[in-house]
Amino acid sequence: MNPELSIIVPIYNEAPIISELYNRVTQSVSGITKSYEILFVNDGSKDSSIQELKKIATTDSHVLYINFSRNFGHQIAVTAGLHYAKGNAIVIIDGDLQDPPELIPELYAKYNEGYKIVGAKRVSRKGETFFKKITAKLYYRILKRITHVDIPVDTGDYRIIDKKVADAIRSMDEPDKYIRGQVAWTGFSTTFVYFERDERKFGKTGYSLKKMTKFAIDGITSFSSYPLKLASIFGFIVSGIAFLMVIYVLISKYILHTSVQGWPSLMLTILFLGGVQLICLGIIGEYLWRIMNAVRKRPLYVVEDTNIA
Ligand code: UDP
Ligand code: MG
Repeated sequence: MNPELSIIVPIYNEAPIISELYNRVTQSVSGITKSYEILFVNDGSKDSSIQELKKIATTDSHVLYINFSRNFGHQIAVTAGLHYAKGNAIVIIDGDLQDPPELIPELYAKYNEGYKIVGAKRVSRKGETFFKKITAKLYYRILKRITHVDIPVDTGDYRIIDKKVADAIRSMDEPDKYIRGQVAWTGFSTTFVYFERDERKFGKTGYSLKKMTKFAIDGITSFSSYPLKLASIFGFIVSGIAFLMVIYVLISKYILHTSVQGWPSLMLTILFLGGVQLICLGIIGEYLWRIMNAVRKRPLYVVEDTNIA
């Protein structure tokens, strides 16, 4: 029989807090139902996370683990969790205790009111750098403007979703995952609960600037064609300016007879055009790479071992 609740927890180098994490999640969830599973996805941790998880799994049959062969990234870890989760409702929560497990009953209560998606919106983010806060704020607002999907602002992946939503996401085999976008794309009834985002209990973020940038671009390329259009908008503007320049050059040569000295304007034009062209090529490149990724159809992840039957 399917469990009522699945909890998906991606784990990347979280060994020192795993027992606290397990205790708090268990505490929180067992108050709601006895029919639950906790799915830890070990995303190629370099510390002893997997040993910790296996130890817990031997003592508690609610605990399932999926052990990746290497680091595939947070979004892929959550995707794997979704593939394996059997619950009627599914919670996605970070494993670093920045998403307080104590919020799960509140998420579940809203879910029981009939919402298929209940997101946890952060009213504040503690312990994050100013740079991260400001870029995140800006990013979500830009994303909202340029996508056709209503991706909620200031919401991470901490949420509860109905089985139907999970089924829809499972059927999307895009490799460059942007799960919060995919959830929003399904269009099921959505609401939010609000919380204060805690600091990381231990260690540092597993999202390097490089991973963060890729993630940010995935969000845009997966749900918006605006940057591609931006390339043509740039193109039109620059062509317009160039056309006016041509008229000016002709007039100055044949009517005003002011000889062209022209070096500065020439340089400016070349540099400007060069820049715009490179930007446009870059934008196309970002989409192209993702098309290649999708066409190759490699598996999203490789599982080394798991205790899921
Ligand atoms: N994580 C992961 N794979 C990665 C990076 C992170 O599974 O490559 C996990 C990590 O253990 C945590 C969650 O994803 O449970 C969120 O990551 P993190 O806290 O590093 O991101 P931040 O909160 O700084 O955005
Ligand atoms: Mg975190």
